[in-house]
Amino acid sequence: MQGSDHVRALRLRGPRAATIVDVPDPLAGAGEVLVRIRSCGVCGSDLNAWRGVAGIQYPLAPGAPGHETLGDVVALGPDVNTLRVGQTVTGLMWNGLAELGVARAEDLVTVRDGTSLLGEPLACAMNVVRRSGVGAHDRVAVVGFGYLAALVVQLLPTDVGGWIALSRREDSRSLALRLGADAAYDLSSVPAKLWDSVGVVVEAGGVQQTLDFATWLTAYGGRLVIAGYHADGQRTVNMQSWNWKGIDVINAHERQPATYVRALHEALALVATRRIELDSLHTHTWSLEQAAEAFRFADERPPGFVKGIVRP
Ligand SMILES: [Zn+2]
Repeated sequence: MQGSDHVRALRLRGPRAATIVDVPDPLAGAGEVLVRIRSCGVCGSDLNAWRGVAGIQYPLAPGAPGHETLGDVVALGPDVNTLRVGQTVTGLMWNGLAELGVARAEDLVTVRDGTSLLGEPLACAMNVVRRSGVGAHDRVAVVGFGYLAALVVQLLPTDVGGWIALSRREDSRSLALRLGADAAYDLSSVPAKLWDSVGVVVEAGGVQQTLDFATWLTAYGGRLVIAGYHADGQRTVNMQSWNWKGIDVINAHERQPATYVRALHEALALVATRRIELDSLHTHTWSLEQAAEAFRFADERPPGFVKGIVRP
């Protein structure tokens, strides 16, 4: 890349059609910085673009939908005085499946050199914890147990009254137990006594089935926190149950960049003071040329897979 004015980027031309293209070096505008991408996670929410659901326009912009980025600042746009060239940064960026990406300086947070931490999903998990309002002695259930859930449970206040996990994948249940779950159940073997018994239920599967199980578990007057990504179509909800049980339903996604950045700072403060497993969750790594594999694995989630990372 040195000395050239082109960089390589992933381009999704249609469903499951990924190519690598040469694009002119992106330029950092006012308030922006240019970042050499070290890693970009492939997120469950990226699968809509990969599979092709209604509303996605192809081709996507080069580097999209990569948004879980970590990299090094290589150039500053005009008016940027909060970051320096050479700093390692993470945060919000939308075209991270490329050698270079552009981000707003105010959407980035500096992290120590050598870290593999991805700020965006960590901030997302922190927002879920905050929006859940979970507090001392609350019992928590997490329904669907992938990467986001594995972050959420590690960011819970230490005085919660224990947590359980539900997942149809055996290795996800083992992961939950390793991360401190009191119990982990397959969806087909949830004890009936748990129904209507859990004060705070975090739905993290993003499918109809996890939404239904989360509804059944939520206690009377409890909170159902929707952290799963449900953008691939309509869902039905059991309004009768929500209404009768008088539960609070919280859609825990955030769309405000400033809220993300605040949550990222909060999460980093916890990462600095607690033992939090991050690296071991990054189970698979690919080069940019192999990025299609990263999407395939995220889609099929073979045994042992938690999170795939592309290293441009
Ligand atoms: Zn994501």
